[in-house]
Amino acid sequence: MPRPPLHRHKGLLRPRSAPRLTQPCPHIDPSRQTHRAAATREEFTRLVARALDTLPDEIVEKLENVAVTIEEQPAPEVLEEMGLASPDNLFGLYLPLSEFPDKIEIYYQPIVRACTRPHEIRDLVRRVVVHEVGHHFGMSDQQLRALGY
Ligand SMILES: [Zn+2]
Repeated sequence: MPRPPLHRHKGLLRPRSAPRLTQPCPHIDPSRQTHRAAATREEFTRLVARALDTLPDEIVEKLENVAVTIEEQPAPEVLEEMGLASPDNLFGLYLPLSEFPDKIEIYYQPIVRACTRPHEIRDLVRRVVVHEVGHHFGMSDQQLRALGY
């Protein structure tokens, strides 16, 4: 199957204006400032499944043509095509394939590396899932940003 042109891809970029997620929470031990939240692939997969479960049934029914996969990180050719220097700059990608089904990739390592606390991973996973699902329904990055995704 030919690879679809990457310029059709839309992904959730790590926002430049995002607060530095490595900032310590004031009430935790300062020696743990650089501690990053951890989630195994299994836990991460469950978070993605849970995020999909929170979507309204009407939306989920229309996602039957979409394969949601979890990847370690974006492929080098994706980064190159999108002009991204680091895999950590991309959390997810919607690939509108010409052949059934469309595909949504969620990137495990970049998301986990961006978070210092477990609930941040859960929230970011949900945001990425909703963002890429939004693309499937034709929403632009601008529209999604306006909605907080
Ligand atoms: Zn996007």
